[in-house]
Amino acid sequence: MDLTYPLEAEAFRIEIRAWLEENLPNGWFDEGFEFSREERAAFNTTWTEKLYGGGWICASWPTEYGGKGLSTMESVVLNEEFARASAPLRADFFGDTLVGPTILQWGSEEQKQDFLPKILSGQISWCQGFSEPEAGSDLAGLKTRAELDGDEWVISGQKVWTTQAGFADYIFLLARTDPNVSKHAGISYLHVPMKQPGVEVRPITQVDGSAEFYEVFFDNARCPKENVVGGVNNGWKVAMTTLGFERGTSATTGYRRFEKELEIITDKARANAKIDDPNVRQGLAHAWSKVQIMRINGLRSLSAVVQGKKDLGVAALGATNKMYWSEYHRDVMELAIDIMGMDGQILTGSPDDEETVPGYGPRRGNAGYPVSVLQASFFFSRSETIWGGTAQIQRNIVGERVLGLPKEPKP
Ligand SMILES: Cc1cc2nc3c(=O)[nH]c(=O)nc-3n(C[C@H](O)[C@H](O)[C@H](O)COP(=O)(O)OP(=O)(O)OC[C@H]3O[C@@H](n4cnc5c(N)ncnc54)[C@H](O)[C@@H]3O)c2cc1C
Repeated sequence: MDLTYPLEAEAFRIEIRAWLEENLPNGWFDEGFEFSREERAAFNTTWTEKLYGGGWICASWPTEYGGKGLSTMESVVLNEEFARASAPLRADFFGDTLVGPTILQWGSEEQKQDFLPKILSGQISWCQGFSEPEAGSDLAGLKTRAELDGDEWVISGQKVWTTQAGFADYIFLLARTDPNVSKHAGISYLHVPMKQPGVEVRPITQVDGSAEFYEVFFDNARCPKENVVGGVNNGWKVAMTTLGFERGTSATTGYRRFEKELEIITDKARANAKIDDPNVRQGLAHAWSKVQIMRINGLRSLSAVVQGKKDLGVAALGATNKMYWSEYHRDVMELAIDIMGMDGQILTGSPDDEETVPGYGPRRGNAGYPVSVLQASFFFSRSETIWGGTAQIQRNIVGERVLGLPKEPKP
């Protein structure tokens, strides 16, 4: 396998490195570099502006919509260099990663002109209104309705587990617009403003006291008729595009956060005198092998894209990868808690900690429930086999669509 990149891509790498060195805070690349609380706050507020100024947010988007029109290889190099520098490369996850690319693929020219610049500049933030109390894995069973009233859609129903709904400006929402056709055929994909009288948002408080997702209730909420993306009753196809973006990780850099985290876990095993325990050694070696498999699979996905391969095996790489990394992470975090021993059972973080979780940015948890970095990662790993489609559903996709296994019986 030839793993060298084209010369142009390597030239672009030098450009990105120079930009990062010039724009990241002094000392960023030094061993043991740490922010004070004030410095971190200042960095968080100015970094998105710098990224925007450099044109690096969504740089693969076409230039007419504010991107740099980067080629696949250039985008890969950009992601690699930011990951290598541990520098954040986004304004808003839902905007940059999910809704923006979906608008590029399915949106009307007016929607592209209207929404894309606001996503790039971080002017509007988004949340994802797919799941409902009785429609998660069986997403097409959703019941939220949208009916046309003159020039507006009128929306009623309920969504659940809606991350960021407490402060998002818009929700990209699936609603039933034709109840008289098969369940997949009568769904539309709408952009609905969140700050209006017909939308009520209630936080779902988790055991640690934090509330990162919400229930959202729609009672005759409204949005303009033209806010439907990809055509009326065509929402299922549009939603599958969004879910494809959600399940895919950045092919050649997705493994890096796990690699960094595994170093922390291995250090912890050394510090706790567990590094000579044969079970721990075996667990760590197993985890390391899996991270390398992720790296190699990433290169496989990249080759497939560069060579324009579109067979079903390639199409299912997103499902395979999502299942693989999320199950890996759940297992390795169980190993980490074992390695922590008694420290894993008590709250060892400090309410004032400014630690970061590799790949996630600031540590999760809150002052009332001060978990350590590894404990926070352990808790979050439990959700990763669920969000964006559960591991079981990914297996169904691979089994039925790629391996051609018989469809599972309907209940
Ligand atoms: C941290 C987090 C953030 C989230 N954020 C959002 C968000 O922003 N917006 C949003 O819309 N949703 C969000 N979700 C919801 C998420 O998409 C759903 O939880 C997920 O799709 C599963 O649906 P469910 O919870 O209804 O479980 P169910 O569908 O009820 O599944 C329950 C169990 O049954 C299994 N199961 C169900 N059907 C099958 C089948 N056919 N074959 C085999 N096994 C099956 C599942 O794998 C699972 O183990 C989030 C979830 C989490 C955990």
